[in-house]
Amino acid sequence: MFTLAVKGKKIIGFHGSDNVHIDSLGAYFTSITPTRLEVKGGMGGKKWEDGFDHENVSKILLTEKWDSRKTEQDLVLWKAKNGTYRAAFSTADTWNNIRTPSDKVAWYNGVWFAQSTPKHAFCMWLAVHNRLSTGDRMLTWNRGLDATCVLCKKETETRDHLFFACEYARDIWKALAKNIYGTRYSTDWSHILSRASAPWNNRVEGYLARSVLQASVHTIWRERNGRKHSNLPNPANRLIKWIDAHIRNQLSAIRLEGDRRYDKGLQLWFSTRGTN
Ligand SMILES: [Zn+2]
Repeated sequence: MFTLAVKGKKIIGFHGSDNVHIDSLGAYFTSITPTRLEVKGGMGGKKWEDGFDHENVSKILLTEKWDSRKTEQDLVLWKAKNGTYRAAFSTADTWNNIRTPSDKVAWYNGVWFAQSTPKHAFCMWLAVHNRLSTGDRMLTWNRGLDATCVLCKKETETRDHLFFACEYARDIWKALAKNIYGTRYSTDWSHILSRASAPWNNRVEGYLARSVLQASVHTIWRERNGRKHSNLPNPANRLIKWIDAHIRNQLSAIRLEGDRRYDKGLQLWFSTRGTN
């Protein structure tokens, strides 16, 4: 799961556009308590829906006593699991509230896990649903378009080609993932997804396996977009260095936050990187 947050600010809504694929997704922030609403509800607080532009996000203001209203700050609560409400905003909970809930899917653990990087998880989620605007998909609404992969310039660009059948992408994936995945290693998308999502020996191994997958998907997709926009191409070893640095920074950040359960991560990461 991941949380979308800016310190000292509150999320008051989402914006985004969605055509054949999702074009953008973002959040509106405010540094003060939203003031659009008049306080409603009586003693003990009551829940109500906050109109059309906050559709599906329930907001309740709690008051302990009417006479304490002027001195106590209103609390904005977000609807969480099973009809409960929490002060902390969780993208995952809100997402679950605005979509039609379905059974936990097989790839769930490969996308939503503790300490994942939000933009990587989101890109991964789009890839899982095959909603990245890859060449094969763009062809369906724009015939005559060149759908050749910009990374290898050899084959048609599809999700499964990019992750990681493409020779350029495969070099990156192999360098970073082969030693972590061991006997689970594959360059086939559906195999990788099910193996990354399956249980791992321990927290650190699972974290590294899933992290390196998401970081690879995101970084390769960004390189692909850069080339589509005529940016200078980056060699595969540069992407490997970026992803490697990201994993190290992420592990250091987790430690700085005081979570020591990933302490062996750096050691394990270095040991798998050493032999490449
Ligand atoms: Zn390719």
